[in-house]
Amino acid sequence: MNSGQLPLYIEPRKFADQDTRIEGKIALSSLSRLADYQGASNTQVEVHLRFYHEIASGNRLVTGNISTELELECQRCLEPLKFPVHTTVNLIMVWSEEQSESLPESHDPWLITEDKMSVPALLEDEILLTLPVVALHDECPASLPVVPEPEGFAQPKAADNPFAVLASLKKQN
Ligand SMILES: [Zn+2]
Repeated sequence: MNSGQLPLYIEPRKFADQDTRIEGKIALSSLSRLADYQGASNTQVEVHLRFYHEIASGNRLVTGNISTELELECQRCLEPLKFPVHTTVNLIMVWSEEQSESLPESHDPWLITEDKMSVPALLEDEILLTLPVVALHDECPASLPVVPEPEGFAQPKAADNPFAVLASLKKQN
């Protein structure tokens, strides 16, 4: 078992055939495709993955979980939004696109293109899948302080509203 620092490359087929577990942490900053979501530095990605060969199905699988915290931008108030990620990994290794079409729905395909595959790339793929389409705070932080109206500056009146003006014109006719 590997613990502590994660390896940057793994050999998926070999790992599966040897029932290998990897556990450890990697800096979020080393996942380049997540650069926009890093926020505070020093965020870690915690990874527990098991690679194994399921004899009954003949499939080579990757299961486990990935946890970290991203920083997104709230689409309502544009303030940073902490987004915890706790995602479950359920992958079946495939070596061709065709293979990936006949998989059970419970698993996603992981297309193996090299003997050695990048761990950061795998983590990026899995974490990017968790991103919401629209990021919103449940409750946005207090809005920016309201600038008080300067003394003597008239509050807009209903009559300043062009529709209100129109309405009053209609009344006069
Ligand atoms: Zn917000």
